[in-house]
Amino acid sequence: MSDRLRTVERNLAAVHDAMATAAAQAGRSPDDVRLVAVTKYVDTDVVRDLVAAGCRSLGESRPQALWEKADALADLDVEWHLVGHLQRNKVRRTLPAVQLTHSVDSTRLLQEMDREAVNLPRPANVLLEVNISGDAEKHGFAPANVREVVERAEKYPHVQVCGLMTMAHREGGAEVARRDFAALRRLRDELVDRAPPNVRLDELSMGMSNDYPQAILEGATLIRVGRALYEGVPD
Ligand SMILES: *Cc1c(COP(=O)(O)O)cnc(C)c1O
Repeated sequence: MSDRLRTVERNLAAVHDAMATAAAQAGRSPDDVRLVAVTKYVDTDVVRDLVAAGCRSLGESRPQALWEKADALADLDVEWHLVGHLQRNKVRRTLPAVQLTHSVDSTRLLQEMDREAVNLPRPANVLLEVNISGDAEKHGFAPANVREVVERAEKYPHVQVCGLMTMAHREGGAEVARRDFAALRRLRDELVDRAPPNVRLDELSMGMSNDYPQAILEGATLIRVGRALYEGVPD
């Protein structure tokens, strides 16, 4: 076994331990939280190590990089998640490659996904990205606008909304992040009753390397972890 694989395995085990600890603290089953391993920092050799170590859900933040990695790793039994901004002109090529798009941030994008998903054997699974912290440079719907998007989602019958996604405030550390995650969960709880049939709000995608335990405490079902998996892995 290579040193690099051993390092990746050790990092992954540490993340799984921390996930289990946070889930236990929250009185949740560890099976209710899924790790999406974000691979944007590493090349396909390291991704192969991650998969050998047991990761099945992989995430990329840029569509082009996702296409390239998905093609290069087509022999592996994995599912891809797009976690970053999707431009409308990249929808056609992205949809067949991904299991879930975490980062739908406009109704124009929803419309385009609905149009393209007509050609898929299944609906396009998406999360609505919410700019819960209000950072000007962040993508995502303003919290006040999400209600309207949910209520009108029947206009996009080929899209299945599965939940909400957010990125925590950049500054302030884990406790500020936890407040943001709690706000996303409350928003979801408020919207559940208004959801039309093609909207389920079961999934909450929140938490990255610095704050995934806090996200699990606040109800995350998907965490998106990159850097923590590559500590000690040479570039
Ligand atoms: C890069 C990225 C992550 C992973 O962040 P780390 O801090 O490396 O864990 C998660 N979500 C999104 C949207 C990202 O772009």
